[in-house]
Amino acid sequence: MFSLSFLVIFALVALVAASDYYKILDVHKSASDKDIRAAYKRLSKKFHPDKNKDPDAENRFVDIARAYEVLSDESKRQIYDRHGEEGLKAHEGGQNQPNPFDVFQNFFGGHQQQQVRRGPSSLTEFEVSLADIYQGASIDFMIKKRILCDHCRGSGAASDGDIHTCTGCNGAGVKLVKQQIFPGMFAQSQVTCNDCGGRGKVIKKVCPHCQGHKVIDHTAHYTLDITPGMPEGHEVVFEGEADESPDWEPGNVVLRVRSKKEKGGWRRKETSLYWKETIGIDEALLGFSKNVTLLDGRSLELVRTGVTQPGFVQVIKGEGMPAFGRKGSNGDLFVEYNVVLPVEISTELRRKLTDAFRHPSSTHDEL
Ligand SMILES: [Zn+2]
Ligand SMILES: [Zn+2]
Repeated sequence: MFSLSFLVIFALVALVAASDYYKILDVHKSASDKDIRAAYKRLSKKFHPDKNKDPDAENRFVDIARAYEVLSDESKRQIYDRHGEEGLKAHEGGQNQPNPFDVFQNFFGGHQQQQVRRGPSSLTEFEVSLADIYQGASIDFMIKKRILCDHCRGSGAASDGDIHTCTGCNGAGVKLVKQQIFPGMFAQSQVTCNDCGGRGKVIKKVCPHCQGHKVIDHTAHYTLDITPGMPEGHEVVFEGEADESPDWEPGNVVLRVRSKKEKGGWRRKETSLYWKETIGIDEALLGFSKNVTLLDGRSLELVRTGVTQPGFVQVIKGEGMPAFGRKGSNGDLFVEYNVVLPVEISTELRRKLTDAFRHPSSTHDEL
């Protein structure tokens, strides 16, 4: 019973395996290694059974892994091109094929990452209000960038049929040129093919959507999440969101978050907040109680009894910036007092002050 069902499965596998690896990966016979990698990257994610619940997805995933395994291996691909599936089987001599999940793991696990060219990352200074850093915020922003043309998927050709192997170099991308160095003596050197610019392929009819540029301009929308207490210069990374190109894996968009200079007088140093409060001479001498509006709109009462010197700093514990990543713990608030004197004083006030400061005993006697 077991051996019978095994046979049935084997027959099924053989039937599926007889299909075209190029078709499975949806690539042209002349596809480059890069095209094959890109196709595998796209399809293996799409049909991974963890994500795709279609009952056929797992079979597709297995086929895609096998097709990639063969076509990404130069010698296996050659044998397959010349002698087909049967020839390849004979070459492999009954060796175990790699587990399709291992193929996937290796591909995405960074194992082959060194071979992938990374496009440039962008770094932008991004100013937000101190209030946004204090309370946390979600800020929408846009980035102008280049994305792969959605019509030609980055090939630059009107259709796949418009991509031809370069006749100048037979697809190699390089030409051998013979140079005569002495009469009767030749040297051979390799130069980049000028017909195809080294790509090995020429496009007969360019994509009408991107005019053959392979990429198009695009405005992308993102949301920057500000965590309360985010440090100055903190970098938020949007992975793989920089300019796209068929030649590379896109780099990252990095935003360096900074607080705007506030005209209101709030300053921040790590978890400390600084506020300058201006008081009159009467308040400086006699004491006061007044309200200051905090960065989240709350009102805080500042109270001083007795004399407040100009430049005096009052420390209010726990009313500073939230500590980044430690919810509920705040630094301190430092309030510095600035004392303003009146521009002029009335004769009446002058007399009273003279009495108070110059003749304190006589004032006292009158009382
Ligand atoms: Zn060429
Ligand atoms: Zn295009």
